[in-house]
Amino acid sequence: MKIICIGRNYAEHAKEMKAELPKEPVFFMKPETALLKEEDFYFPDFTKELHHEIELVLKICKVGKSIQPEFADKYYNEIGLGIDFTARDMQANCKAKGLPWEIAKAFDNSAPIGGFINKQDLDLNNINFSLTINGQTKQVGNSNDLIFNFNQVIAYVTKFVTLKVGDLIYTGTPEGVGPVAIGDKLEGYINGNKLLNINIK
Ligand code: MG
Repeated sequence: MKIICIGRNYAEHAKEMKAELPKEPVFFMKPETALLKEEDFYFPDFTKELHHEIELVLKICKVGKSIQPEFADKYYNEIGLGIDFTARDMQANCKAKGLPWEIAKAFDNSAPIGGFINKQDLDLNNINFSLTINGQTKQVGNSNDLIFNFNQVIAYVTKFVTLKVGDLIYTGTPEGVGPVAIGDKLEGYINGNKLLNINIK
């Protein structure tokens, strides 16, 4: 399986990163070894600035290439919550040098994943989600604020890349990204239901 991550998909997050609003979706990938299903995340020694990015995640249920937006909703059946952990100091360095940013994004365990909800049980245009750290709310988002909605994302990505069953699409983070530290407890919610629980060790 593979993990596809969409960048700059919420206007307020693009603003806080001092990035332009994209005219087309921006995507990158994380390998299967980035997936973290357990609750303990060990702070990597190569970064001093590890940022949380809470994101809605689509679980792909059907193989597809060159999917038209109007059929894209047939290709995912569940929506969950994940964190796109980012070594922000290293990413800034890569960006400044015009280099690919995999070392800042695709390292082991950089993609914690929580529980999923059946798509039919959600209003796809009004999914509220949030991240708390040690009980304090840090990020709040709503799928209605996506620059490119789920179907547009799937249509764009599959122009280039075939989706396979079990692939995950992290759909972008809202504003409020920031650092985590050893000892932090991260909890993620969709519509008030706790689906993600990560302890930074
Ligand atoms: Mg992200």
